[in-house]
Amino acid sequence: TPLDKIRNFSIIAHIDHGKSTLADRLIQRTGGLSDREMSAQVLDNMEIEKERGITIKAQTVRLDYKASDGETYTLNLMDTPGHVDFAYEVSRSLAACEGALLVVDAAQGVEAQTLANVYQSIEHDHEIVPVINKIDLPAAEPDKVKAEIEDIIGLPADDAVLASAKSGIGIDDILESIVKRIPAPKGDAAAPLKAMLVDSWYDPYLGVVILVRVIDGVLKKGQQIKFMQAGTQHLVDRVGCFRPKIEQLGELGPGEVGFITAQIKEVSQTAVGDTITDAKKPAAEALPGFKEVQPVVFCGLFPVDANDFEKLRDSLYKLRLNDASFSFEMETSAALGFGFRCGFLGLLHLEIIQERLTREYDLDLITTAPSVVYHINLAHNQGVQELHNPADMPDAMKIASVEEPWIEATIYVPDEHLGSILKLCQDRRGIQKNLTYVSGRAQITYELPLNEVVFDFYDRLKSISRGYASFDYHQIGYREGDLVKMNVLVNNEPVDALSMIVHRSQAESRGRHMCERLKDLIPRHMFKVPIQAAIGGKVIARETIAALRKDVTAKCYGGDATRKRKLLEKQKEGKKRMREYGSVQIPQEAFIAALRMG
Ligand code: GDP
Ligand code: MG
Repeated sequence: TPLDKIRNFSIIAHIDHGKSTLADRLIQRTGGLSDREMSAQVLDNMEIEKERGITIKAQTVRLDYKASDGETYTLNLMDTPGHVDFAYEVSRSLAACEGALLVVDAAQGVEAQTLANVYQSIEHDHEIVPVINKIDLPAAEPDKVKAEIEDIIGLPADDAVLASAKSGIGIDDILESIVKRIPAPKGDAAAPLKAMLVDSWYDPYLGVVILVRVIDGVLKKGQQIKFMQAGTQHLVDRVGCFRPKIEQLGELGPGEVGFITAQIKEVSQTAVGDTITDAKKPAAEALPGFKEVQPVVFCGLFPVDANDFEKLRDSLYKLRLNDASFSFEMETSAALGFGFRCGFLGLLHLEIIQERLTREYDLDLITTAPSVVYHINLAHNQGVQELHNPADMPDAMKIASVEEPWIEATIYVPDEHLGSILKLCQDRRGIQKNLTYVSGRAQITYELPLNEVVFDFYDRLKSISRGYASFDYHQIGYREGDLVKMNVLVNNEPVDALSMIVHRSQAESRGRHMCERLKDLIPRHMFKVPIQAAIGGKVIARETIAALRKDVTAKCYGGDATRKRKLLEKQKEGKKRMREYGSVQIPQEAFIAALRMG
């Protein structure tokens, strides 16, 4: 396709503002699928994505559009993941485009997630076409939303397209705007091949499928290619595009978006953002912006039924075939048995994997409290240790200092909930950086420790604001903190699965909370069971489960005092023995419940 007939664009939208519905409409209008094939929301092709209404993996589709100027254009719509956990993947999809549709719900207005993505889009020098969607709704206020786009984002909104993806209003206007306003890509077909690896996924029939955007040169079937970051070489065996059905092509030229396969077995061999070049005639330098993605949230996953361990391992391998951004390694816990320590890009990513294991692989799992990655500066210049698991925390003596990851969060909240949101941020050790008002809503910027956010921040935010607050964040680096390991001891023995890293200022309340909870979960024994939370040797919270009272002396009606005393002594001894043997019978359900309650 000649460059001037290509348009590459993505759709930026806050969750639920109508990105998927609009994408489907564009496909339908340009004839990519017949009405019969047009199942609801074709771009969200995973079951969980459909249910949660979010896009996890970026997809792309090529549309042919005959514009009002009589020419036919090739439009490549890059769908982007719609969640902060996948910010890097979003950035690569955006880097593959020249423009974006900014979809804003006419009744909801601009939200935090919209902003984060629109700023990225502006950084990529995109031409942005605002689309005000859902104008069919009675609550739609397109003029107010236009003003918000201008005030909050700073984009002119006079030419915003008014649309309803649901009822099909404004779809032609959107397509015309794409052709007229979004610039054609640039590129040199004669230069050495330079293509960006935008996304990859595992397909059971095709193997690993790689989504690419060609910048310069030509990508052909039969070509020996090289991944510049990974340093590996592969032979291209298929080239094509999605309409959204697969169409095979001979080659992809500059400016074009499509897919290749090259007999690659695992997505872990294909890093998003890598530069693909010709092995024989390589480009001089790789494309900018490459980043290796690292898991930021870790937790233990254990099968409830120990016999499911092998099944869990196999399932994790299968999931990883398609998702190189999560990691796992074996872990053993005295309380929970054999399991895995897993790393994720964020909490949503964790929930998705957990849900797929439960649903698609039929596993019943216990998840330990999520934890971030701490940097432990060891004493006596012994270097830095990355800590993924509270159980591996070195003795306090060996630690010089502990650093934790911080984030900068942007929160949008209607005025009436502002006070409680500020309190939430303060309680979570937040540092306020900015507070402004736009159109009756507050925009707050806070620096927060990531540790405080993975706990339950998002849920709290939503419940405090009755769903009206929106939230977005990015990491800003590591800072020293007074962080300690809190152990939970049942009958004086630490329970590994319940230990956690906490800020000293919060240790007591967390500890008390956990002790109270366990008190209700652990059944009574013949003896008293202390439950303690401790930092090092120091107990900071304590509860006691009273002993079951078995009134052994009741049987000895009246009389024999000696016999009575003997019985009592015997019972005391019994108690001691039980203690000496140490272990309290704690049903595994108690751990599970304690952990599930978050
Ligand atoms: P996404 O999360 O941005 O992909 O949003 P979806 O496309 O999944 O849409 C979210 C919800 O809004 C769905 O229930 C859609 O049916 C609905 N929706 C999308 N566009 C419109 C519209 O133009 N009007 C109305 N009334 N509802 C819409
Ligand atoms: Mg969607």
